[in-house]
Amino acid sequence: MTGTRLLLIGPPGAGKGTQAAILADTYSIPAISTGDIFRANVKNETPLGLEVKSILARGEYVPDSLTNAIVEDRLHEADAVSGFLLDGYPRTIDQVNELDRMLSADGKALDAVVLITADTDVVVGRLLKRAEIEGRADDTEEVIRHRMSVYEEQTAPLINTYSARDLVVTVDGLGAVEEVTARIVAALADKGIQA
Ligand code: AMP
Repeated sequence: MTGTRLLLIGPPGAGKGTQAAILADTYSIPAISTGDIFRANVKNETPLGLEVKSILARGEYVPDSLTNAIVEDRLHEADAVSGFLLDGYPRTIDQVNELDRMLSADGKALDAVVLITADTDVVVGRLLKRAEIEGRADDTEEVIRHRMSVYEEQTAPLINTYSARDLVVTVDGLGAVEEVTARIVAALADKGIQA
């Protein structure tokens, strides 16, 4: 099926990236991760990468104007025209408003917002483990805790915004990867969104 437009929201370490890759395949839509876009730019030392490197390393958010412009460009690429899964965007109210503007300018709207929940101690443990495997600069315990508090302050309030539009499906992120995927697929089917 084409035409599905999804957002994935959840605290750092809830498993968004893992689920995004699987869901993209399941729903035949591109997974667009702003975190991945920023990390690729940092790795390749592009001008954008040089600008955001220390922001990512501190666990702060990249300025909205920069992030919004990147997403707008990406959504206009051919593969995203008929559907997408945004992972890690929007993260602020300003980004919500900008995404609304981008979509309505093209006569489009979101189909659902998938909220993946996870207990703080579990996600900190997961992220510390990921640090050993992937060596991400923002996966030290101090930065992880800071990213959690930034999420609580700036991103958690978006859940209310999208709930008021009746778009949110909440899924427990604890358990095996395939169990979590099955929960998401079932919750979306309940909303009439078929894979
Ligand atoms: P993630 O891979 O989604 O955990 O993102 C890693 C980092 O990239 C975040 O901690 C932020 O520094 C930056 N980032 C990713 N997405 C956004 C966004 N939507 N707004 C601002 N900063 C972002």
